[in-house]
Amino acid sequence: MVKYSSCLIGVDVGGTNLRVGVVQCQRVIWEQRVQADFSTFCHERPAHEALDFILDTLAGVIHEAQVRYPEASVVGIGFPGFIDPVTRRVTQSPNLPGLRDVDLSTPLFHLLKLPVIIENDALAAAYGEFITTHRGSGESLVYLGLGTGVGGGLILNGRPYAGTHGVAMEVGHLIIEPGGRPCGCGNRGCLEQYASATGVALTYAELSKQLGLDATLIAALAQEGDDNARRAFELAGDTLARGLATILKVVDVSRVVIGGGMCPSWQLMRAAFDARLDADLIPVLRKRIRISISNAMDRAGIVGAAMLALLASHEERGHA
Ligand SMILES: [Zn+2]
Repeated sequence: MVKYSSCLIGVDVGGTNLRVGVVQCQRVIWEQRVQADFSTFCHERPAHEALDFILDTLAGVIHEAQVRYPEASVVGIGFPGFIDPVTRRVTQSPNLPGLRDVDLSTPLFHLLKLPVIIENDALAAAYGEFITTHRGSGESLVYLGLGTGVGGGLILNGRPYAGTHGVAMEVGHLIIEPGGRPCGCGNRGCLEQYASATGVALTYAELSKQLGLDATLIAALAQEGDDNARRAFELAGDTLARGLATILKVVDVSRVVIGGGMCPSWQLMRAAFDARLDADLIPVLRKRIRISISNAMDRAGIVGAAMLALLASHEERGHA
């Protein structure tokens, strides 16, 4: 029997920051946000140094939660990468280059003396959205997370679905523009090179010839009426809808939740997104898809990671 009253630690790792929280009864009762630019570090430093930095940072923030809540029984980490569902190793992380087939769980277990379960970050957020907000509205849900990359998570008939190799719903790597921008996964023209914060920055740089502006700044320019900035967000909305229409033709669900750090800029993407989705969906699905923006205030990833870890530890004990 899974004890939902258990005290759990959940961690949501992003490209530029991470959030750690203590979860009880599916609610975050304590949390902390830490700036940690893993993405830049991994792009600039050798893989072993990047791995040490990631492990040290994770151990530090989790230990702080552990000191405050020593009764915590398990740690769940939502990590941006492909996670082998059996070994829980990070097989590849397109936005954290150099990390290939790495085991984060074992060294963290030795440091913290707590079981540590690694999951894909978007799958964790999808499960967090499902159990905290949308459980009553149906059994299946697609989650799209817009941040440094574009993540996807699928809850199918009430269960998180990671796929045989842990790459189910890697929607950020749907090829939207064949031969287009190079991607960290090794292909070209992937959705996340257009619809993520990174993609918006790339589009804006192409259009304006101004380099080095991030998506938050570009959103402010768009609000002021800058045409290139507006077009960068419109392309993000258009490409995201193209990807989502494809997903919905494969997994016919009616609930879609959009989350991640780009949510505050959603209104800049929305008209282009709606128009493209309407055009590309199978006619019978038009107007029947309920799309909502996450209102979990970034907590879905923490709750989902913690709850998936609780489920996994329960299942592992059950199989032992
Ligand atoms: Zn890719």
